[in-house]
Amino acid sequence: MKIAVLGLGIIGSAWAKNLIADGHEVRTWNRSPREFPGFHASITDAVAGAEAIFIVVADPPAVQSVLDQIVPKIGAGQVIIQSSTISAEWTLRFAEHVGKTGALFLEAPFTGSKLAAERRQTVYYLGGDPEIIEKARPILGPISSTIFHIGPLGTASSLKLAMNMNIAGIAQILSESLSLCRAAGIPDDIYFQALSRNVAHSPLSDLKEPKLRQHDYSPQFSVKHMGKDLRLALETASKLPITLAQTELLKQTYDRGIAAGYKDDDFIGLVRLVEKARDMR
Ligand code: NAP
Repeated sequence: MKIAVLGLGIIGSAWAKNLIADGHEVRTWNRSPREFPGFHASITDAVAGAEAIFIVVADPPAVQSVLDQIVPKIGAGQVIIQSSTISAEWTLRFAEHVGKTGALFLEAPFTGSKLAAERRQTVYYLGGDPEIIEKARPILGPISSTIFHIGPLGTASSLKLAMNMNIAGIAQILSESLSLCRAAGIPDDIYFQALSRNVAHSPLSDLKEPKLRQHDYSPQFSVKHMGKDLRLALETASKLPITLAQTELLKQTYDRGIAAGYKDDDFIGLVRLVEKARDMR
């Protein structure tokens, strides 16, 4: 198939490589020009004639900017696969915008960071019309491990934000718990051996253990994006009859991490905020 991938960040570049390996004709585009297979400097050239158009950029304003550029050029016979993490409210707005062109809109947030994307282990949370999902399945299936149809448009974004609340909360308490042990003189080997036999042991602790041990904060998923997701979760909750007290605290921690200069690092790098607090004492 002819496929456009708009956004060559951590995830877009990994998916584009796998789509190329799958034999699709892939045109790629990124706001800042990149050396990349199939790269088109012009976004309108990249989407012309593409049957499927992936959008995987930072946040709602970035998606808005991409759509503003391509909407005059897209139409019937094209499917927009919108995979940037945004909220239900933004999803409904963008779907309406795309719908007026005759193109189809698929809400396609996902979980699984850099390694999962490279290893075709992405898990998609899809929202919208089942017929659109069936059109996208032959493309998404080979680059993912699981495809969940969550429900109507908007539900997949809410679920995605809810899942990231879990991840941010678990990662932060893991960082604090590890820091307590380090400060008490307990070696990391002992800490992680104990955690491996503890009910709190998780795939997330397995994923982040090497980074924590090696103090490696290169990004798999960045502080700025998790901070954005916590903000979108709080914005979503503000229109619902619920209060997310722990998420509000987490958001403050992410704000402090961004102010401390960690925005482009992996979110597990916020462990340094705990260590900093200790140094200050
Ligand atoms: P990333 O590496 O930070 O890349 C962000 C991309 O967005 C870059 O291509 C960037 O272009 C582009 N961008 C930013 N602002 C833009 C704008 N105004 N107009 C056009 N393009 C713009 O991000 P990522 O980790 O690949 O994540 C992409 C999306 O997937 C985010 O919504 C993130 O929350 C979500 N997500 C990521 C992961 C993960 O583990 N990484 C997992 C699940 C969901 P430039 O190169 O020009 O800056």
